[in-house]
Amino acid sequence: MTYDVIIIGSGPAGLTAGIYATRGGKKALIIEGGNRGGAIILTDIIENYSGFKHIDGFTLAENMREQAELFGTEFLSDTVTEYRLDGVKKSVVTELNGEIFAKNIILCMGTESRRLGLANEDKLIGRGVSYCATCDGFFFKNKTVVVNGGGDTALTEAMYLKKICKEVYLVHRRHGFKASAVLAKRLLDSGVKLVLDSVIEKLNGEPLKSITVKNVVSGETKEIETDGLFVAIGTIPRTELLKGKIDLNESGYIITDEDMKTNIAGVFGAGDIRQKSLRQVITACADGAIASFQID
Ligand code: NAP
Repeated sequence: MTYDVIIIGSGPAGLTAGIYATRGGKKALIIEGGNRGGAIILTDIIENYSGFKHIDGFTLAENMREQAELFGTEFLSDTVTEYRLDGVKKSVVTELNGEIFAKNIILCMGTESRRLGLANEDKLIGRGVSYCATCDGFFFKNKTVVVNGGGDTALTEAMYLKKICKEVYLVHRRHGFKASAVLAKRLLDSGVKLVLDSVIEKLNGEPLKSITVKNVVSGETKEIETDGLFVAIGTIPRTELLKGKIDLNESGYIITDEDMKTNIAGVFGAGDIRQKSLRQVITACADGAIASFQID
């Protein structure tokens, strides 16, 4: 059997692509790995998705999924191990279900957390180091934690943790934040302690007991005692298997045109995985809709 479209990934981009494809009469399959619902399911509050003053990410993703199912989108829980994108008929090879064919492929695999790259970082995962405050924050109830980063994720996570933990430090390598102004303003009133112009040089103890930070302006180093470190220094695209197969930019994001078309006919990129200026739930949904509108 050949699908009209296989969509890889079930975040907002993939789910919206499914809704638009099947509502438009196409036969669509969404293949999802371990990230059902995408990164938003870990967001405790979303307040910039038009039409919802406040909604949690899990509920929003589940609503999108029900909507996709309602129109007949099929779902498969599996992992893609190879993309075969040349030719009119495309296919993906999966771990459990073999090769699956489609006329079009929409790539919506999103991104994953960037690591600090410190020597003992991997060893400390689950022993003080985490990449997700909503997943692991509870384990640090009434304890001291550090969040690293200056983007929307870092600020959101620091303020979320402040509600659970005794003390929260935010370490950021610059003085200004990359995060939106509204979050930066809220952070200043949140009680989170700021350690600016600073980078983390060492993770001490096993489990983690403290971090050594260096002020990049003064050159001074100091130790901050902490029970946990939440690393929120951005993301990298899940495009490892696509290298050499489609055009990616120097950071590995898929290059598309405004119709989400890649350099290969019938192959589209949508959501956080593609080169773009604004990575939000609403722009991911828009990408998914546009991509599905383009398929034959
Ligand atoms: P991001 O916007 O790329 O921010 C990454 C932050 O980490 C930046 O402040 C950056 O510093 C810092 N950083 C990067 N590499 C570093 C390193 N090696 N060491 C120390 N610091 C480092 O990533 P994000 O915050 O995860 O956000 C990803 C996307 O999701 C963004 O488009 C964001 O708008 C979106 N998002 C939106 C919301 C929301 O709207 N509520 C919530 C979460 C995420 P510099 O500032 O110096 O570059």
